[in-house]
Amino acid sequence: MKADTILQHLGEEVHYAGAVTPPIFQTSLFVHDDLAGLRTLLNDPCDGQESYVYSRVGNPNLTMAEKKLAALEGTEAALLFNSGMAAISAAILCSVKAGDHVVCVETAYGPSCSFLRDYLPKFGVATTFVNGDCLDEIKAACRPETTFMLLESPSSILFRLQNLRAITDFAKSRGIRTAIDNSYHSPILQNPAKLGVDIVLHSATKFISGHSDVVAGAFCATKEICNEVTNREGQWLGGRLGPFEAWLLMRGMRTMRLRVEESVRQGEKLFAYLQTRPEIAEIFHAGDPSGSHYEVAKTQCTGFVSLMSFRPKVQDEEKIAKFCEALELFGLGVSWGGFESLVIPIHGKPSDWETAQWVIRLYIGLEDFDDLRADLDQAFTHLA
Ligand code: PLP
Repeated sequence: MKADTILQHLGEEVHYAGAVTPPIFQTSLFVHDDLAGLRTLLNDPCDGQESYVYSRVGNPNLTMAEKKLAALEGTEAALLFNSGMAAISAAILCSVKAGDHVVCVETAYGPSCSFLRDYLPKFGVATTFVNGDCLDEIKAACRPETTFMLLESPSSILFRLQNLRAITDFAKSRGIRTAIDNSYHSPILQNPAKLGVDIVLHSATKFISGHSDVVAGAFCATKEICNEVTNREGQWLGGRLGPFEAWLLMRGMRTMRLRVEESVRQGEKLFAYLQTRPEIAEIFHAGDPSGSHYEVAKTQCTGFVSLMSFRPKVQDEEKIAKFCEALELFGLGVSWGGFESLVIPIHGKPSDWETAQWVIRLYIGLEDFDDLRADLDQAFTHLA
């Protein structure tokens, strides 16, 4: 099945009372007729694929959306969590033990980096952060006790790319498990499991949901890894998604391919527009043909979405704030992947920059691009 058919039908073979949309299984628990069957399920909740005990462990609304996500990503299974961070932290926690070492891309999503840098050391897990651009740097960062690598391609804010096939080939040769935050490309544009990545993660809050009304996370991997996580991190940390959110997520997923492909078209228009702006010193976009790994990226994904950042020539905090506040069609806020355009200024410094710099991240939603361009035109007067 192709993506659009998966999104409309897979996992929805039963039509309850003929209803074209599935019911919301708004229940915390499921009762059973025979005790032996219930005991089997309690011992191994993954045993009966479509039998349920308790909604912290599984629920039919989650199963429907999970089947679609696994099919799109090309993994055996998928699990939904109640946020992207719940899925990311579950992936890390299921892969490391005290004494282990992790390698992580330094421009990965901030809270993913903080979890590794600031939280895991108290459990005896150390992390080395790498640029991600260079395989030799990644190889050099690995130690005998390295068991896990967290990738993010494109990565947050600067949209840096990694050569996924080269990295996973190396990781496999060393017995290192790899995971990737694939939120930016969505399962429509990039399927990292097909390039050897073991765990594919998403903030489903973004393109998968697409309507800025759900916070959710996706974890896609083999059945073995997913069953392990269902029984451990899922059960014990209790971060699985609720049925109503799973239902909303699935409603958003119906149009995911259409929305993501429109985002690619909007991104091309925005990139072309920003290149004409004299106020900009540098643009950061995964789809920049002059970017390192662009050629590799074209073999890893089928497009680049409408998220990018730019470094204004003027590095004055007040002027940058005025630019952002002057935009009328862009909400000033975090997140992205919904219907609405957004702007956020960020001050920071990856290891290869000499000083911290202001960059402004833009996300283009589904509004008419001519209207957005007119809005940007008037706001750029503040960055002169
Ligand atoms: N990964 C990326 C790239 C993100 O941008 C975000 C949130 O902004 C997350 C993960 C975390 O997802 P959530 O907010 O659903 O926990």
